[in-house]
Amino acid sequence: MKRDYAVIGLGRFGGSICKELGQEGMQVLAIDSDEDKINEFKNIASHAVVANSTDEATLKELGIKNIDHVIVAIGDNIQASILTTVVLTDLGIKRITVKAQNDYHEKILNRIGANQVVHPERDMGKRIAHNIISNNILDYLELSDDHSIVEVKAGEKMGGETLTDLDIRAEYGCNVVAIKRDNTINVSPAADEMIRQEDILIVIGADKDISRFEKHLVIDRQ
Ligand code: ATP
Repeated sequence: MKRDYAVIGLGRFGGSICKELGQEGMQVLAIDSDEDKINEFKNIASHAVVANSTDEATLKELGIKNIDHVIVAIGDNIQASILTTVVLTDLGIKRITVKAQNDYHEKILNRIGANQVVHPERDMGKRIAHNIISNNILDYLELSDDHSIVEVKAGEKMGGETLTDLDIRAEYGCNVVAIKRDNTINVSPAADEMIRQEDILIVIGADKDISRFEKHLVIDRQ
């Protein structure tokens, strides 16, 4: 179903969201106070408008109330980001996603009614750090403050073993929820499934448990 989105702030983050939504065939209203930015997005967004998003009357005129989901991607100007979020909540926007610049900013955004607060630089930093620790850690996704999902290459330590042999749930408190092999994905791996070195395991668990799992079974310290 085609849905309407608005992206406010067309820096690298907001710009990339805007492009991706456009490519997926969504209707996107792009808003930025910088005319050059708007010219850049004229052919990408369905509508691109120069406006100051902290001004309630302007947002009303733009028909923002009819939009299902608004993404606020104003970075450096924390005050503008907060004010914009307040205006959007006052206008009764159903879904508001806001990019936070730091933890303090995130806390305020949660208080004033943002439905989703994203922290792309911090999260990407974490994902890359895990990947740097080991080439076998392919991806890392934070589910909450203390739970994550990791995507790991089985590697030498797990290759040739079954899930029962490794006893990951009992030993580390984590669950192997899926195994990717070649181009297939097995979302309910059996306990006697023989793991191959090239397999990719998707593991869910508490951060402290995942960390032990990574140290013992994933990271190759030769
Ligand atoms: P990124 O890291 O994603 O590039 P950033 O954190 O550097 O972004 P900024 O460049 O500070 O973010 O802001 C993103 C955009 O938001 C800019 O293009 C800026 O013109 C726009 N912007 C800032 N304040 C407002 C405002 N009040 N109304 C509309 N747009 C605004």
